Amino acid sequence: QPFIKIRDVVKKFDNFVAVDDVWLDIYKGEFFALLGPSGCGKTTLLRMLAGFETPTSGTIEIDGVDMSEVPPYRRPVNMMFQSYALFPHMSVEQNVGFGLRQEAVPRSEIAHRVAEMLELVQMSELARRKPHQLSGGQKQRVALARALIKRPKVLLLDEPLGALDRKLREETQFELVNIQESLGLTFVIVTHDQDEAMTVSTRMAIMDRGRAVQIGTPGEVYEYPNSLYVAQFLGDVNVFECRVIDAGKDHTTVDSPEAGCQIFADRGLDALGGQEVYAVIRPEKIEISKTLPVETRHNCISGIVYDIGYLGNMSVYYVRLVTGAKVKVTAANRSRLVERPITWEDQVWLSWPPAAS
Ligand code: ADP
Ligand code: MG
Repeated sequence: QPFIKIRDVVKKFDNFVAVDDVWLDIYKGEFFALLGPSGCGKTTLLRMLAGFETPTSGTIEIDGVDMSEVPPYRRPVNMMFQSYALFPHMSVEQNVGFGLRQEAVPRSEIAHRVAEMLELVQMSELARRKPHQLSGGQKQRVALARALIKRPKVLLLDEPLGALDRKLREETQFELVNIQESLGLTFVIVTHDQDEAMTVSTRMAIMDRGRAVQIGTPGEVYEYPNSLYVAQFLGDVNVFECRVIDAGKDHTTVDSPEAGCQIFADRGLDALGGQEVYAVIRPEKIEISKTLPVETRHNCISGIVYDIGYLGNMSVYYVRLVTGAKVKVTAANRSRLVERPITWEDQVWLSWPPAAS
């Protein structure tokens, strides 16, 4: 039984459709991400869960209750805003305890719960500081503690780490997951950053112009994108236009004049012979070699290296095929001493297993 049921939800602003017919189930204890480019309707969907916006049509059910008549403050959810919205004149502990004071919770209990929350977000030492005396990362922790203190069943987070620099953001992602797991709560996060969604979420919905176009675990959406849009949004891809030769339940063979070869995949495709499709191959799945690979039955083409990017931990190779098509390949640099390094103008073989197309 899903904890949050979103059914055929549409949100229009005048004639503009911001959220378009979204159907989504979110289960208890999930860390669910709404991922998509700016303007695709993520925040609007989150605000409908919080009750700050009303769906134009469709229904939202949380914990078995239809939310259409339930105001924000009576919903079992709390929202953490992008801007943190801390009260500047209050100390850290006053900010965190604010929600409980509003509800006339006894002083001793407030003190106890504030201390517990500050411990959770590792801010106990800075309890007396004011927001202007805190770094971005510390403000983010205070906002999180404040959003959690009322023990919501669902925490909604709108781009919670957007203001932090890259390294801090990565550390904080893992902390968020730890907190979510230790409290056993349901988190719904909005982000436009695919790495962030991949890192924190147990499942995600990828959004495109108001629609949830694919829903799945990070592994499912990365390995089995259901559209070119999803494949390209979730990282680098080589794309070849192809025609289907043979499509079955668990295998597909296509012919690609662009790549100059046939491409085999070990996934089924609901398509007819002759139909135009795209083959999508990620740069890190391709093996690059100066010698013809031993196993050459599947997916092997040759080309000339025309550019190399050295990134320290890995190198990026750009290869031109005889057809003129360009292929990007990334390879981890495991050793400093490469016996036969690949250089410009080298002829190379590119190969990848059927599981990579
Ligand atoms: P995201 O969070 O994915 O960046 P939003 O949900 O904020 O996207 O917005 C989706 C679209 O709806 C945008 O084009 C935005 O301009 C529009 N929109 C959002 N809120 C309103 C509003 N209150 N009035 C009119 N248009 C809005
Ligand atoms: Mg937004």
